[in-house]
Amino acid sequence: MSKTWKNWSGLVKCQPKELLQPSSLNELAEIVRSHAESGRSLRVVGSGHSFTPIVATNSTMICLKNLQGIESVDRENYEATVLPGTKIYTLGKLLANFGMGLENQGDIDSQSLAGAIATGTHGTGANLGIMSTQVVGITLLTADGDILECSAANNPDIFKATQVSLGSLGILGKIQVKLQPIYRLREVRHTSDLSACLDRLEAACRQHRHYEFWWFPHTDRVSIKTQDMTDAPMKTSQIEHLLNDVILENGVFWLLCELCRNFPSLCKQVSNLSAQLVSEGETTNYSYQVFPTPRSVRFYEMEYAVPAEKGPDCLREIKEFVARNDIAVHFPVEYRCVKSDDIYLSPAYQRDSAFIAIHMYKGMPYKTYFDGVEAIFKNHQGRPHWGKMHSRTASELRELYPMWDEFHSIRHKLDPTGVFMNDYLKRIFGD
Ligand SMILES: Cc1cc2nc3c(=O)[nH]c(=O)nc-3n(C[C@H](O)[C@H](O)[C@H](O)COP(=O)(O)OP(=O)(O)OC[C@H]3O[C@@H](n4cnc5c(N)ncnc54)[C@H](O)[C@@H]3O)c2cc1C
Repeated sequence: MSKTWKNWSGLVKCQPKELLQPSSLNELAEIVRSHAESGRSLRVVGSGHSFTPIVATNSTMICLKNLQGIESVDRENYEATVLPGTKIYTLGKLLANFGMGLENQGDIDSQSLAGAIATGTHGTGANLGIMSTQVVGITLLTADGDILECSAANNPDIFKATQVSLGSLGILGKIQVKLQPIYRLREVRHTSDLSACLDRLEAACRQHRHYEFWWFPHTDRVSIKTQDMTDAPMKTSQIEHLLNDVILENGVFWLLCELCRNFPSLCKQVSNLSAQLVSEGETTNYSYQVFPTPRSVRFYEMEYAVPAEKGPDCLREIKEFVARNDIAVHFPVEYRCVKSDDIYLSPAYQRDSAFIAIHMYKGMPYKTYFDGVEAIFKNHQGRPHWGKMHSRTASELRELYPMWDEFHSIRHKLDPTGVFMNDYLKRIFGD
């Protein structure tokens, strides 16, 4: 019997017929070609950190762990060509050796670069786009086994479609990334009232290179995190890190989560307590060490991008919904800002966006909460994060994405028989 594959949250399981781990792009291209010829489908898996069945397959699963690393670096133009399976934590260290760094990234670094790009993974920063906006070239392995170079100059339409493509146009074989000279970030964390935070949100997002906050349900409290470039010397304390990030925000938080799972009526008190325990302080380090936070507590997540100006109202409505329905949730709600772009399936396509993410501790009922909040996101023309839970249908998504038809016409040309499709993609693409 084939081995069961599980995603990070444990909610998605499948039994791939086979798991292949090619060691070269030629081997990968050959696998794709043979699948297309025999009418078999395949899915590529990165780190399995998406919350939806986006990689699930009962056919062939391809893992790119043997295709990691930097192929070449252009020191003059601050660009690097990176292999698709490279984990973001590895990339950060490798780039630092060349005196370079990513412009922005998400709040964990366990993803593969290709997986992050494929789902429109983002960090925060009103003047910074999703990670795919840092991509300046893609070598795409298409269903017929061809290798297609895509960039603003070569196959520009395919490039705009491939920058966020959910693994449906082909396999990202190499990714060319625009970089920054290596830089340090000063991170400051403090707590505040939600109302004060929302009142000065626009100014704060403009003031800081990176700005985000977490709202604790059933309370008026938020934890705010800002990150700004600095030339100041490093300021990190391993003891503080161990106490705050590892023990308090993961160990103690996990115990509180277990308490809520067993006694959901305690969610309010636990959320209140978490708001009081959350760490404050500051740290200065290289960007690739400041961006990620450890996440050992497992959860389910839904995240939507709403137009930036609608973000505060959207959050207020979520707060009201949680109170009105006495939702048993203690996991904080995350709020980030992202600059608009021109990538066909980017949730930030042509609009500056507020990304709002809701979470539920693994094993706790989440449907009433997620359904209710999703209805609020819908009212604000929200677009779902492609790696996170949502219930949108192809016809609804088509309304939200002006370039939806262009994307799918490119997809049908590149993969006419659906080699890269699975049941989940067929559902959300309406095939
Ligand atoms: C704890 C946690 C924290 C997170 N934090 C953030 C965050 O801060 N910001 C954010 O935006 N998201 C965040 N996410 C979501 C996450 O970034 C995305 O789901 C991302 O896609 C995961 O990368 P992965 O390598 O695990 O990809 P997977 O989930 O394995 O795959 C995702 C997609 O990429 C495709 N893919 C993988 N490799 C290739 C390739 N070579 N060619 C073509 N397609 C490919 C897969 O087929 C699939 O469609 C978080 C998720 C978790 C679990």
